[in-house]
Amino acid sequence: MDKIKIMEASVAKWNRIIEGKGSDGGVLDCPPCRIFYMLVCFGCPIAEYTGKKFCKGSPYGDWYWHQIEDHGYMRKKIYCPECLRLAEAMRDFMVEIVEHLKKKRNDAQKTRSGSTPPGP
Ligand SMILES: [Zn+2]
Repeated sequence: MDKIKIMEASVAKWNRIIEGKGSDGGVLDCPPCRIFYMLVCFGCPIAEYTGKKFCKGSPYGDWYWHQIEDHGYMRKKIYCPECLRLAEAMRDFMVEIVEHLKKKRNDAQKTRSGSTPPGP
């Protein structure tokens, strides 16, 4: 499974939330969680990027606790301007990871094609 595609699916998910068309079900509907969570959160591109498991170090914690403390509904979606701000922060963070993965893939391709001379 292509990690870039998975993260692009995450960007799309948060865009739907921002547009008010979707809600966040956490692990159950997070594209990378569905594939990588497996109780130990192993190999997820978000975890690799932050260096921490379970989305620590991402804006997800702020979104999660704001939803629990200020709204407390089962469905996590946009209820107030702060929700919108946090959802946008999460979407931007996912975009950042997509960019990071694309850059990494491009670098790897450059190395493989031999355009970079081998180091000492
Ligand atoms: Zn809110």
